[in-house]
Amino acid sequence: MTREESIRLTGLEQIGTEKNAVGRGLVLGFPAEAVPTKHGLHLYLFLEAEFSGKQRKALNQQLKEDEMLKGKVSISNPIGEEDAVWHMGNMFRVDMNFKNEEPKPTYDAALRLVETFLTEEAIRPATSCAICGQSGGDSVARYENRLALVHRACLQQWQREQSQKLELKQQNAGYFRGLIGGLIGGLVGAVPALGAMYFINFFVGVLFALIPLGIYFGWKLFGGKLSIVTTVFTILYTLVVALATEVVHLWLILREEFPEFQFTIRETLDFYLDFEFFREYLMIDTLMALGFAIVGIWIAWRQIRQTDASAAQDTVTVLEEAVSVGGHTVRD
Ligand SMILES: [Zn+2]
Repeated sequence: MTREESIRLTGLEQIGTEKNAVGRGLVLGFPAEAVPTKHGLHLYLFLEAEFSGKQRKALNQQLKEDEMLKGKVSISNPIGEEDAVWHMGNMFRVDMNFKNEEPKPTYDAALRLVETFLTEEAIRPATSCAICGQSGGDSVARYENRLALVHRACLQQWQREQSQKLELKQQNAGYFRGLIGGLIGGLVGAVPALGAMYFINFFVGVLFALIPLGIYFGWKLFGGKLSIVTTVFTILYTLVVALATEVVHLWLILREEFPEFQFTIRETLDFYLDFEFFREYLMIDTLMALGFAIVGIWIAWRQIRQTDASAAQDTVTVLEEAVSVGGHTVRD
């Protein structure tokens, strides 16, 4: 089965081709996206709906007890997973495995079960436009990091306003305010990593990711222009802050171990400049700090590479990839 065939099964409109092909539209009246993987043998169906962990468990139990669906269809919470990183709303994911199966009966049976469950739990789709709040909506779009029902006209207006705002910012905003915000943000972002090193004596890559994120959001918060300059600064300053974190960590340890000497930061730095001492005692920790800074940059990469220009382009993509759903109808 191809990815295209897998999408066709859902009745959703296909966006993109080959490996990037996804289906988007309404399923059971809910904004939905279908993402086929493994040559179409696996289908992730994302439904935008208020769904609690308890409800997810209950529905999973029903799927397990179903003779036809057990072991093939399950429900998961995609938030935080790679394929739903863009997503900030409420959604649940139906995972379907068509291996050795006739896909159509499996899909239909799974959908029937999900529909019954949603009805019983009184989980209903939104019936108003996510932008203007008026009832109705004719399109499904990835609006503000969630799948939403919107009016196309509202989406077009939103896109125009956003791109004008970003254009204005590109013309008027400078780098100075961003730089100040970035410098402060990096220091704030380093506190958790320093805390982990000092209190539990441990490098944690995820915490090092807070350094580039702190720099980036500090820059953005202070109204600095976001461009390639921001990304380069974020990378370089992350390495500087990571090294500084390592120095401060050593300084805290020295103060604790040898309170009678009252070491200063300057004296602590001297240890790093003593090549023999550095090689023997400090090199591994320093290299680890730099290594974890790079891991942190990698984790934060999707965020820190975003610029005002790419944000403007993203609004165009949101509009282009909005799918018409012909009023607000529920697919049967
Ligand atoms: Zn609207």
